[in-house]
Parts: sequence; C-alpha cells; structure tokens
Amino acid sequence: MLHIIMGGTFDPVHNGHLRVAVELREQLGAAVVHLMPSNVPPHRQQPGASPDQRLHMLRLAVANEPGLQVDDRELRLATTSYTAETLRALRQDLGQQQAVALVLGMDAFMGLPDWHEAHSILRQGHVIVVERPEHPLDSRSEAGQWLRAHETDDIRQLETRPAGYMLLARPPLLAISATAIRERVAAGRSIRYLLPDAVRDYIQQQGLYRQGATESPLADTVPDQ
Ligand code: ATP
Repeated sequence: MLHIIMGGTFDPVHNGHLRVAVELREQLGAAVVHLMPSNVPPHRQQPGASPDQRLHMLRLAVANEPGLQVDDRELRLATTSYTAETLRALRQDLGQQQAVALVLGMDAFMGLPDWHEAHSILRQGHVIVVERPEHPLDSRSEAGQWLRAHETDDIRQLETRPAGYMLLARPPLLAISATAIRERVAAGRSIRYLLPDAVRDYIQQQGLYRQGATESPLADTVPDQ
C-alpha cells in the first residue's frame, strides 16, 4: 500500500489542498493521504498562524474524512525539519519496503534540487509532482532533468518499489492559495467556500490574519459570518 504524504505550510489549509489530496488518493488507490504541516525556518517569513493553530485548522478540515489524516511529526520537533530527515524517521516507523510518495506542487518541485540532502529524498521515497498552470515545468532546469530521468506514467509502478520514481499528476485544480485567503481576511472580505466552514469559523474566532487590515480600503467591511 502506497503511503502518500503531502507537506506544506497550511497557513491556512484550504480546499485547493484538500481537493488535490482527495483526487490523488483516488487516482493512486491509496487508503489515506497524510497532510504534514512543516515548521518554517527562522530566516523565512513566519506564518500568520502559530504551529498549534495551523495544526488545529488541519484537524478541523479533515475531521469527517477518514481518507485524509494529519501527521504532526515535523511540528512536534522544536527545530526546522528537513524532508530528508522526516523521510528517514518515517522509514523507521514503516520499514524499508513500504512504498512512500511525497506530493509536491510544481512550484515546490522546481526548488527540490537545492533542498538539504535532495538525492536522499529520492532514495527514500517517490515524488508525485502536481502540475500547476501558473508554474509551468522548466524541462531544462535541474528539477526538470530529474523528472525525465526518473519519470513513470504508470501509477501502479509506484507500488512495486519503495522509492525512486517520479510521477507527473494532473488532478483538477482549484485556483485557491493560502496567500489569497490571508489577504482576503486582512481586507475584511469573505473567504467562504474557499476552505471548510469549520476552518473559517476558527480563523474568525482566533482573529487570525487580520493584521494589515488597516492598510486595506475594505478594512471596515464587516467580516463574512
Ligand atoms: P501560500 O499561498 O502561503 O504559499 P499555498 O496555498 O501555496 O500557500 P502551501 O501550504 O504552501 O499552500 O502548499 C502546500 C502544497 O500544496 C504545495 O505543494 C503547493 O504547491 C500545493 N498547493 C497549494 N495550493 C494548491 C492548489 N490550489 N492546488 C493544488 N496544489 C496546491
């Protein structure tokens, strides 16, 4: 059985993430997709929500969907976690023979060769690259060459080996980003139907992402109830 992991900041999780996870789970015939929120290194812009809040929003989002589960192993570590190390830890739990696949959007995938111990990532898992219209594949880039060297278009092959294949997936995509959601909250605009209602209610309750509202012409608009 393929063990699928989708990492991200999830600041906040939204229907774009959730639909991709559900589509991939069905296309790949997996029982579960594991959503794994990551720590953000101190030198990068920090999320608007705390690690606990990001985790809570993910748990609210998947509460009634047994096919999606939250894996908090990276947030449980106090330090920034590298994907290569996370996969090693996962291998200790799962053993060396289980097939593991890491889901990356094309934007994230293009940066993969620069990640810490990038080659080790491919030795420990498959990579499923999700095409995104606003981030076309640059086939001359190093990531593009990796894709050509390791690509399979046969989903079933991912289960025949524990690691090492790359698959280009083209699930239907929703044009939603966490950045756009945060901007909408800051501007006092509605975020309804972009993410689960329970997550939207939590964002309102906790007063998340409102900073910057004073800079917006829509700042006085009553937030969506
Ligand atoms: P931000 O706008 O803050 O950069 P994001 O919405 O892109 O956030 P992340 O948490 O950074 O979300 O993304 C986690 C993963 O989900 C990444 O691999 C990203 O490419 C993918 N992803 C994000 N939004 C979508 C979407 N609408 N459709 C498909 N994949 C998405």
